[in-house]
Amino acid sequence: MYKNCKILQHGLCFFDNKLASCCYSPVDQVDGQCPPVLYDNYKGEIIPPDELFKKIEEYSGIFKKGGCPRECKDCYHIKEADWSDEKYIDYITITHFSACNADCIYCTSNNEVFEKTNKVYPILPILKYFKEQGVIKQGCELHIGGGEFTIYKECDELLELFAVNNYARVFVPTNAVKYSDTLFRAMDEASTYIIVSLDCGCRKTFKTIKRVDAFDKVMDSLAKYAKTEKSKEAIRLKYIIIPTYNDNIGEFKKFLKIAKKLGIKNLIIDIDARYCRETKWQIDSYYINLAQKMDEIAKKQGFITEFYSFYFQSTNNKDTKKDNIFNQIYKYIKFKYFNNKIKELYRHHLYGAKKEQFVKKKKL
Ligand code: SF4
Ligand code: SF4
Repeated sequence: MYKNCKILQHGLCFFDNKLASCCYSPVDQVDGQCPPVLYDNYKGEIIPPDELFKKIEEYSGIFKKGGCPRECKDCYHIKEADWSDEKYIDYITITHFSACNADCIYCTSNNEVFEKTNKVYPILPILKYFKEQGVIKQGCELHIGGGEFTIYKECDELLELFAVNNYARVFVPTNAVKYSDTLFRAMDEASTYIIVSLDCGCRKTFKTIKRVDAFDKVMDSLAKYAKTEKSKEAIRLKYIIIPTYNDNIGEFKKFLKIAKKLGIKNLIIDIDARYCRETKWQIDSYYINLAQKMDEIAKKQGFITEFYSFYFQSTNNKDTKKDNIFNQIYKYIKFKYFNNKIKELYRHHLYGAKKEQFVKKKKL
């Protein structure tokens, strides 16, 4: 028995310029990831399986000796178990593309550090190769990250390779601005699940958060994705609490109405990751209480809910002190109008990747 991580041993995460084990490292996350890197400056090159597993073993060996790689420090994925030395990959994340047809106020690919782009290396050759070589196990999990998958150039082929034929369980976050029939087939015929962060219950809030006028298109896509009993089950409708933007029960109740109308049962409640990181996980009790209250209301209406945030998964924060009603109102007003830190958090994102150009233009 010793401590190790399943994802470290059997995971691959494709970034735009590196191949790593995962994207979950809790270290140095305020402005990016610090994952266990297997190949730096990686651009989709073919890697012989032996070489790949040797690289993985370098990290795994640290655990075997009773240590912990710096990148994994405090990660909740570390478990004590009887680890085997079997060599295979069964947990893949693709997050090397970042282009999107929305422009969310909280998007981590939406600041001056990252440029939204689909001009990235093709990922199909390496994945096809690993699949043919028996490196990728049948029944594996494929997680999509990055930008909007339905507008990514290899979307359909990837779904054909892993999803429609049920080779993998596939998890696709999508904003649903564009409907994909291949994605629907994968949901209806195989084990593919979509996560749609709606974050609101009306067009006005949608436009403020997503910064595209596409509420009707999203409603239309969701209705198509929710066409059959099986595909309905495959949808997770998500509500990310974004401080000062949708942090109220009224908006959440409208969100529930939409879910009910569409027949969607599975919901995810989350707190914006950027706020969590900026506060170094010292999330104000106002937001924790709010998330818990939303969870309660949704469950009472018969929904199945899940908390997504690392905060809820990794700690025993169930004991957070409840604010009384006066405190809640006080905090709501304070955060909305007088908290410069929160304002700055999203002001930072206001100009998105265009911030530098904006600043330059202003100077001219
Ligand atoms: S312990 Fe955490 S950071 Fe390390 S490989 Fe596993 S999931 Fe990634
Ligand atoms: S839909 Fe996703 S990728 Fe697109 S802007 Fe929003 S958070 Fe970013």
